[in-house]
Amino acid sequence: MSKRSLIMAPETGTRINKRVQTNDGGTVRAPTDAPVTENSPGRKKVIVRDLYKSFGTLDVLKGISMEAHEGDVICIVGPSGSGKSTFLRCLNMLEKPTSGTVIVDGHEMTDKHVNLNKARRSIGMVFQQFNLFPHLTAKKNIMFAPVDLGVMHKREAEAKALELLDRVGLSDKADSHPWQLSGGQQQRVAIARSLAMNPDVMLFDEPTSALDPEMIGEVLNVIKELASTGMTMIIVTHEMNFAREIAKTVIFMEDGKILEQGSPADVFQNPKEERTRKFLSLIVDK
Ligand code: ADP
Ligand code: MG
Repeated sequence: MSKRSLIMAPETGTRINKRVQTNDGGTVRAPTDAPVTENSPGRKKVIVRDLYKSFGTLDVLKGISMEAHEGDVICIVGPSGSGKSTFLRCLNMLEKPTSGTVIVDGHEMTDKHVNLNKARRSIGMVFQQFNLFPHLTAKKNIMFAPVDLGVMHKREAEAKALELLDRVGLSDKADSHPWQLSGGQQQRVAIARSLAMNPDVMLFDEPTSALDPEMIGEVLNVIKELASTGMTMIIVTHEMNFAREIAKTVIFMEDGKILEQGSPADVFQNPKEERTRKFLSLIVDK
């Protein structure tokens, strides 16, 4: 049984007692290692508390706290330099927070004893600049991590890569190198690549900002499809229509803090803060 299928206290990763329904309709206290489905409602996938990050004397994150439950899609918007990328990078420890707690899928990332290599496997990340390996084909880009980390045999990884390429609509590009692909196609390969490790949480940092306008839709559609499968996602984006459509929660970040958060309707149509209003008025929907 995988560790993930145990009943876990979401904040600590320790097992907890819970009452479960029996076949005859009654309830019993579950043994501490009783399995629950991956889709147990209310399970917290990401917990961030009092996150601070400074680069030397530059304070970039100034006390961020937020949570994402399983299947949540959270869109982060905010002006350039407000710390959005730094925040995402602190979630998988690409940047080491100055202080605070980050827990992803039960792994306390900020605990100095955590096995980071293992913990990072539950997090997929997609960047603005696709960052594909230029010397590898689309298929081999996707196969790379699972094979390199010994998670899959070559055959299995290849089958997975082809399945993922099909999912992002690029079955015919398996043997193409990045330079033979458009920006939108490269970004779809990058998404497929980050799905190869079966992540529990996906982070997107402005996934369409480097794309020509006509390619934005195809990438957003792949992300929407992913959302419909119940993937937990945190997405930094300036695509407001997309955020409105896909997000359960919109977070507006400014100057290293969360200035406000709520449903897309709350934040976009009825922002509480003047600065949110001002920012939104400057963003032109494409
Ligand atoms: P955003 O993604 O919202 O545009 P960033 O998180 O990229 O913001 O950057 C926030 C601030 O942190 C900026 O002032 C940026 O220059 C600074 N910053 C980001 N990464 C580093 C770094 N590795 N070293 C020093 N300063 C950095
Ligand atoms: Mg950024």
